[in-house]
Amino acid sequence: SEFAALDARIEAEAAAGEADLAQPVLAVVGRPNVGKSTLVNRILGRREAVVQDVPGVTRDRVAYDAYWSGRRFTLVDTGGWEPDATGLQAAVAAQAEMAMQTADAVLLVVDATVGATTTEETVARVLRRSKKPVLLAANKVDDDRLLADTASLWSLGLGEPHPVSALHGRSSGDLLDAVVAALPTAPREIGTVSAGPRRVALVGKPNVGKSSLLNKLSGEQRAVVDSVAGTTVDPVDSLVELDGEPWRFVDTAGLRKRVNSANGAEYYASLRTKTAIDAAEVAIVLLDAAEPLSEQDLRVLTMVVEAGRACVLAFNKWDLVDEDRRHAMVRELDRGLVRVPWAEKVNISALTGRSVRKLAPALRTALKSWDQRVPTGQLNGWLSDLVAATPPPVRGGKQPKVLFATQAGIRPPTLVLFTTGFLEAGYRRFIERKFREQFGFPGSPVRVNVRVRE
Ligand code: GDP
Ligand code: GDP
Repeated sequence: SEFAALDARIEAEAAAGEADLAQPVLAVVGRPNVGKSTLVNRILGRREAVVQDVPGVTRDRVAYDAYWSGRRFTLVDTGGWEPDATGLQAAVAAQAEMAMQTADAVLLVVDATVGATTTEETVARVLRRSKKPVLLAANKVDDDRLLADTASLWSLGLGEPHPVSALHGRSSGDLLDAVVAALPTAPREIGTVSAGPRRVALVGKPNVGKSSLLNKLSGEQRAVVDSVAGTTVDPVDSLVELDGEPWRFVDTAGLRKRVNSANGAEYYASLRTKTAIDAAEVAIVLLDAAEPLSEQDLRVLTMVVEAGRACVLAFNKWDLVDEDRRHAMVRELDRGLVRVPWAEKVNISALTGRSVRKLAPALRTALKSWDQRVPTGQLNGWLSDLVAATPPPVRGGKQPKVLFATQAGIRPPTLVLFTTGFLEAGYRRFIERKFREQFGFPGSPVRVNVRVRE
């Protein structure tokens, strides 16, 4: 069916990693007591509370959202290097290795008043092999007299040491400038915010009631807005006031002027649907409540999900639905809409006007979810518990580990999980389901991508 094809595409996308969607990651490494936590808090401006030591992903690394000079990046604090059974040097090397594999750039913090120890020399050896940018912070340079200590750190072979005082904030701006310059360029946010009324696509198979609904909405509300201050309206769009607010129904010209060529009518309809969805932020997918769900309905839904748009399902012609039909529908929809259980739903009649006023609140709910972002600290707090309770299934004798996650984007909300192995579609869906249980996101698709670091 349509959804099987969609699943296959989503699967391929997740396997590809969608690395270009994620914001860059900076890993902070260093011996205990060199001032990593102090520096991390300085960078964050203490906007996010330090996450408690919880079992699972965040035990030895914690991720946060960081911003500097208009750039967003994920800051990963790799925690202290406590010697384990294999000894301090091995633990240190492993930690640096991990940072290197996970991050796009590494910040090595050294206590300038102590200088480079053998531990740092070991780490530097590992980091020098990396093709990724490595920055060296010479911390605890609280005043000019200590600047001389910084110079000796050139010996680590990691380039220029950046003197900084995490405690007092001295030169931390210069360090961050260097960090941001070293990070790969962040991708544009998907679906950038546009001013003016929010854009709605009214879609559905032929004869489901699109024209009737548009006429009802513009007629009954009577306030068809021709121009809204500060906006220019494409003549193919319609501005409609719903619930005291203007909405831009995109690409409605084809709806108002019905194209009635028998030849290519279906092609035209499907092209219009695609164009409208692409131009919109949220889609109202009209379904005929009086008839069983069809392949054509699913094809439209697939387009919406694939385009990553927020979604309101409107069951039209509700005036024709009787008791028997209602019972049949429940089972039918459970099966037919398995891939979009999160869609907002309203039962309406474009003919009688029944419940059409419920559309605006549903649109608002869906768009709110579409715009929503879960802070990285909060996300990882939740994820660590989830993964500790239900780890990913073993594949090829190996247990993939989920290291941490960020919500890399909104519109639609997109999670990126950093892992040591591929996560099966079933497990990603499990994560999505649990994510929704915890954070909601009604009316919006949520994407779960995986970045594998072997
Ligand atoms: P971590 O173990 O690497 O995370 O180190 P912490 O951030 O916990 O810092 C260890 C100690 O060094 C704390 O007592 C900090 O107050 C102190 N410290 C951190 N940064 C500086 C600094 O720039 N100057 C001075 N004088 N002390 C610092
Ligand atoms: P479109 O092709 O999706 O634009 O569908 P239309 O708006 O042209 O509607 C197709 C037919 O369904 C018309 O005869 C409408 O009168 C009828 N129709 C639309 N909405 C409803 C409804 O809510 N109830 C009933 N009973 N008929 C409807």
